[in-house]
Amino acid sequence: MTVLCDSWQRVINYLRISVTDHCNLNCLYCTGGVSIPPAPRSYALTYEEISRVVEVAAGLGITTVRLTGGEPLLRPDLSRLIGMLGHIDGIKEIALTTNGILLGALAEELKTAGLKRVNVSLDTLQPEKFEKITGSKRLSDVIGGIEAARQAGLNPVKINMVVLRGINDNEIVDFARKTISDGWHIRYIEFMPFGALKSEVGEMVSAEEIRERIKILGNLEPYTGEGGNGPARYYRFAGAKGTIGFISPMTEHFCHSCNRLRLTSDGHLRPCLLDDDEVDLKTALRAGVGTEDLKELIRRAVSLKQEQHHLAEGVGPSKRSMRGIGG
Ligand code: SAM
Repeated sequence: MTVLCDSWQRVINYLRISVTDHCNLNCLYCTGGVSIPPAPRSYALTYEEISRVVEVAAGLGITTVRLTGGEPLLRPDLSRLIGMLGHIDGIKEIALTTNGILLGALAEELKTAGLKRVNVSLDTLQPEKFEKITGSKRLSDVIGGIEAARQAGLNPVKINMVVLRGINDNEIVDFARKTISDGWHIRYIEFMPFGALKSEVGEMVSAEEIRERIKILGNLEPYTGEGGNGPARYYRFAGAKGTIGFISPMTEHFCHSCNRLRLTSDGHLRPCLLDDDEVDLKTALRAGVGTEDLKELIRRAVSLKQEQHHLAEGVGPSKRSMRGIGG
């Protein structure tokens, strides 16, 4: 088996693919609540181009892909892409990150196409606050989407909550309780301020503080049963069916275990979410690049991976928004 390694001996086997920079929400922590005009759809890689990249990347050692955006379920016929990726030798898992608005109608079809798991972003259980954070009234669609995904067997469905002080931090315990009452799998994410978000969107709440605040519900036990492919550390309350994960890019970064590359919807391969470096694959693909040269471009992106990000010191990406990168 081929293994792709970076300059710091990390094995790179995971590719996050943004299929669109369009989104049907306008989340405070993602865009600052400012409406960002998306690129024309023709800028996006076609499904055939994405599959080609994944096929060549799989030949180098990529085994897992996650589709994201923008909002990936806005891309028409996403199941067709999932079916195509599922046929690529070496790809063992296809996952999705979504805001859940359109999941209710699509969960079953996505599962049938070969999707294995789904993460849903949800930052509040209160309709008014949902509107304040996302600019949308469709909280009930998201809750319905989560249920539909569970029913379809896309388990474990993980709920991602970005915690902002003074906005939704008073719901930290409510979300934790859901791991006991409803078997939800919750992941608390530290807010990353970069680009336009450096202005006053809200203050990050650290994983450590969240851990302290949910202890009111009982003792947290480390949980090793659910590995996942990402940076979260997992726990659960005794007897709870659901788990609690912490993703702490600001206070306890996890770069030493980074295993990923990111493909933007307009075909640029990024070594890191938080670094402006990228390698342009789209121009090469549209010029008819051969397999060996495409492999070389992918290796170049891997070689650009830095040892760690420096967001805590204020150094982050300046050229693209989160939506433009693919979260
Ligand atoms: N539309 C999809 C969704 O909502 O899940 C996929 C894209 S979204 C950008 C991917 C993830 O990025 C979500 O879990 C979201 O909560 C997270 N995210 C966006 N901006 C963030 C920020 N500034 N800090 C931390 N997480 C952020």
